[in-house]
Amino acid sequence: MSEISILSPATVANVVCGFDCLGFALSAPCDEMTVRIIEKKTVRIVNRDQFNLPTEPEKNVAGAALLSMLKAIDENFGFEVEITKHIKPGSGIGSSAASAAGAVVAANELLDERFSKLELIEFAMDGEKVASDDRHADNVAPCIFGGFTLVRSLAPLDVVTLNFPPLFVTVIHPQIEIKTSEARRMLPLQVSLKDAIRQWSNVGALVSGLQKGNYELISRSLEDFIVETVRKSLIPKFDAIKNKSLKAGALGGGISGSGPSVFMLSETSVTARKVENVMREIYSETAIDFNIYVTKINAEGIKILEK
Ligand code: ADP
Repeated sequence: MSEISILSPATVANVVCGFDCLGFALSAPCDEMTVRIIEKKTVRIVNRDQFNLPTEPEKNVAGAALLSMLKAIDENFGFEVEITKHIKPGSGIGSSAASAAGAVVAANELLDERFSKLELIEFAMDGEKVASDDRHADNVAPCIFGGFTLVRSLAPLDVVTLNFPPLFVTVIHPQIEIKTSEARRMLPLQVSLKDAIRQWSNVGALVSGLQKGNYELISRSLEDFIVETVRKSLIPKFDAIKNKSLKAGALGGGISGSGPSVFMLSETSVTARKVENVMREIYSETAIDFNIYVTKINAEGIKILEK
């Protein structure tokens, strides 16, 4: 086998109270990628979309992840990766993670699954570092494992996969730019013990609600007292979206990644569609362009299409 095609999904990180640890994979949108073996021990990037992302492998997250993988193998071949992105870079739904994780999962298939999922996450984090100057796993972990994941520790890497009941997701991507550096600068350097207690109580309860399929507990636990309060000012109409989505029946939600996308979880597809209407109505009154995705949690993660 010398070539493989895959679909690599968008992901939501920073799931409300689970800042920097909890994430999940979406069933759509997905990037299309084909990885093939080439004779030279190098990485070649071929972009098949309109986003003008870098083709120098060390500047493209997919390339950087594959270079990291090549360092770990003795063979003398390399990889070419063809990328058709459907997840807009900078959207806050894991565009860079889809490329980094997709590239190494596809390459690993060509290597007869030599590396474990945790090892693949390590390579993908080297890719993520190109986009955000930071080795983080909260998008690449759900992209690779599917479903909900909790990154308990980065060093050593410890990823916990969670059971979850059927859940529908409505995501709005307002076409505005939020600089990751600005979103990071807003984060509090310290939190009060009172807020910390509320936050970790919610994370524990959310995980339990997901495991038991207890929608009421999931809904009650989707609260964030630390990050949302400061970052929501970056997203026009955030409060209106959240409050009206809850009134329409959503379980809860918040900022996806560091924004600008906002997601809401619902128990049924009917409610998720109502939430879509709420979001559309609110943003139609602004001058901001937007995309909305109504989709399910993706239990499978990256999908292998053809070898
Ligand atoms: P998102 O939160 O949607 O993943 P990020 O801000 O994490 O967006 O990543 C987007 C940044 O990463 C952009 O600056 C983009 O130029 C850079 N980048 C480099 N390679 C890629 C790639 N293959 N896919 C997406 N973004 C990439």
